[in-house]
Amino acid sequence: MANPLYDALFAPLQGRDTPLLHLPDGEALSARAVHEMIAQFAGGLGVLGVAPGDRVVVQAAKSPQMLALYGACVATGAVLLPLNTAYTEAELDYFLSDSGARLLLVDPGREAALAPLAARLGLRVETLGNSFDALARERPTTLTPVPRAEDDLAALLYTSGTTGRSKGAMMTHRNLVSNARTLARLWRFDARDVLLHALPIFHTHGLFVACNVALLSGASVIFLPRFDLDQVCACLPRATTMMGVPTFYTRLLADPRLTRDLVGHMRLFISGSAPLLSETHRDWQARTGHAILERYGMTETNMLTSNPYDGPRRPGTVGPPLPDVALRITDPETGTPLPRGETGMIEVKGPNVFAGYWQMPDKTAAEFRADGYFITGDLGLIDAEGYVQIVGRAKDLIISGGFNVYPREVEAALDEMPGVRESAVIGVPHPDYGEAVLAVLAADDPPPEPDALAQALRARVAGYKQPKGYVVVAELPRNTMGKVQKAALREAYRSYFAG
Ligand code: AMP
Repeated sequence: MANPLYDALFAPLQGRDTPLLHLPDGEALSARAVHEMIAQFAGGLGVLGVAPGDRVVVQAAKSPQMLALYGACVATGAVLLPLNTAYTEAELDYFLSDSGARLLLVDPGREAALAPLAARLGLRVETLGNSFDALARERPTTLTPVPRAEDDLAALLYTSGTTGRSKGAMMTHRNLVSNARTLARLWRFDARDVLLHALPIFHTHGLFVACNVALLSGASVIFLPRFDLDQVCACLPRATTMMGVPTFYTRLLADPRLTRDLVGHMRLFISGSAPLLSETHRDWQARTGHAILERYGMTETNMLTSNPYDGPRRPGTVGPPLPDVALRITDPETGTPLPRGETGMIEVKGPNVFAGYWQMPDKTAAEFRADGYFITGDLGLIDAEGYVQIVGRAKDLIISGGFNVYPREVEAALDEMPGVRESAVIGVPHPDYGEAVLAVLAADDPPPEPDALAQALRARVAGYKQPKGYVVVAELPRNTMGKVQKAALREAYRSYFAG
């Protein structure tokens, strides 16, 4: 009997003596060694009574063990639930209760503090890198995977959001295998590739896009604990590909070590999880000779669109839909499909789209159309060349004096102004307009004069889109995936126009 995800990603590691993970200390773990760890971890899960379908939560530092735990969960039919290491204990409580987890794995040293929580919820806590490894070490280094069907769950990934509202996206074997195959083919991954991996592996980007594609194609991975400029610069000459969030690229651009020579061995740079500024794309190409390939996706759907491998990688776009993804733009209110070029809700359908939100049938139903399309919550358009352009999240749309303002358009204009490093355009309460456009800028010192910016913008965007106020900050607030935290900005400036 088959186990689709295990068969595609982990079975091929068995007995292969080539390096799979290159670690920062210069050590490498062979595919065989990682597979043996997976087998022993699968045995460890068995000893702890984890059965197929049980949820295994891990909140731990990025490590080869965490990757092996992913493999072990897939092999035993358990459902992996990786959590952002930044989540607090109160948040952890929510994820553990909501998912009805059976086992929690954390970094060594945290188990005592979490014991009361675990006792209250009736689950077991083990440490990855200590107690769990010790238990697993006694288990065999070979395994027989538990049979799974295409529609069985492999992972639960909670969408980013505040406690209580975060939803568990149910990812099936089909979702993950299909997307990995599509991406590996499109991006031409093979066994000669060396992927520079500096992303966290609690998120879809680092775990599924990066690891799954590399595992599926037999590539090896330079597995860094986090994005550290010195480490990344030291490793780039040995890599052939890198997947990053836009901040990886802007930070590298700010470093004099980034040269054509440094990336002479690279064949592909990929960016996603947040919009890549056109300026970053252009600067990168001028400096390195590489056109960054920007793609778009989300936790619930895996990847949806990608700029082409061959063919123009157009700045400011996320490329055409993937070959097995159907993507349409609709009127957000009615769901009626809109003609090409018009901005509306991005809706998608395909084998990559998740099976729904964990134990939230109503929320799931509300985000699918009757014909099976998932309503992404992102606004965008399909341009004349068939490339998708994203204008932002629907909840970030500003309605000022009855007019729709798409923040991305105003941000793009502001970002080109001298002295503006980057901008976030938000809507905040206004006594007259209902909501008014406010521009929050990360700017050079001295910052540009608001009057000069307003004057320059007048030639670029219609009056109702122009910011009614400007705020300069040192840095825009971002989460670990490099996304600007607009909800936090709206909260911080909610009284800006009061009175
Ligand atoms: P997450 O579920 O955390 O991966 O966040 C997914 C969201 O990130 C999407 O719904 C988009 O709003 C945004 N996103 C991902 N990739 C891109 C991109 N290339 N350009 C713009 N926004 C993106």
